[in-house]
Amino acid sequence: YETSMSKSLKRLGLSLVQNVVAVSSAKGGVGKSTTAVNIAIALATSLSLRVGLLDADIQGPSIGKMMNLKGKPELQSHGPHPLLRPLENFRVKAMSMSFFMEDESKPAVLRGPMMSSTFDKLMFGTDWGKLDVLIVDMPPGTGDAQINLGQRVPLSGAIIVSTPQDIALMDVRRGVEAYRLLKFPILGMVENMSYHVCKNCGHKEHTFGEGGVKRTAAQYGIDVLGEIPLDIAICSKSDAGSPVVASDAESSHTAAYINIAKKL
Ligand code: ADP
Repeated sequence: YETSMSKSLKRLGLSLVQNVVAVSSAKGGVGKSTTAVNIAIALATSLSLRVGLLDADIQGPSIGKMMNLKGKPELQSHGPHPLLRPLENFRVKAMSMSFFMEDESKPAVLRGPMMSSTFDKLMFGTDWGKLDVLIVDMPPGTGDAQINLGQRVPLSGAIIVSTPQDIALMDVRRGVEAYRLLKFPILGMVENMSYHVCKNCGHKEHTFGEGGVKRTAAQYGIDVLGEIPLDIAICSKSDAGSPVVASDAESSHTAAYINIAKKL
């Protein structure tokens, strides 16, 4: 459903946004936000595009921490509807529920309708300005919340992030089927935590099994956009608010994220 408010806000906040790309995952904790952040920075810095990043993971916002952004966005008047000014770092404009929370460690306890209206405010009530692409870090899963959100957003396409274990891929299949029913275009899959390279001996180990995402993607005729290894550098840099793409131009991980960004 679409309220008249969300319709008019859509005209305002999103009117100059060319493409909206959702980064989604069937399960939590597979690296969806890490992927969204690094791809957004790659699009902005390496491909020189105008990029926004919306943290639609309202109950588990992590974009603020990963992007090293804090502070309350200002409301600026814009005709009859005031719009929120996004915060910016690494050439990416960002909006997240965490910017409005006194204490990020406390849960945002919201019921369904509140979730939808909060999402609307962040998505349509932000002054995104002229953007080539708005990356939306979706909440994990493929339930009602995602469908609800997805239907109200003019999506150009979705990227599905998964780890290679069977248990994650089982949920991915459900997600792909749901996206197909809803006619959401799927841009491709990213295999995160694909393998691990031993620091001491250089041995490459497929900790969670080999080729799982490739097989699932092939089954549905979906492209695999890239494989990102399990590496402590990816984790520690995100935790420190300086994601690998923003802080280590020489890293092979940066190259991998840029490659994914180029395929979008
Ligand atoms: P999600 O958004 O799917 O819940 P996150 O992106 O928040 O997942 O990632 C969960 C945790 O895993 C974070 O601590 C993150 O730094 C870490 N992580 C994500 N991808 C990788 C990776 N490729 N290698 C190592 N750690 C990773």
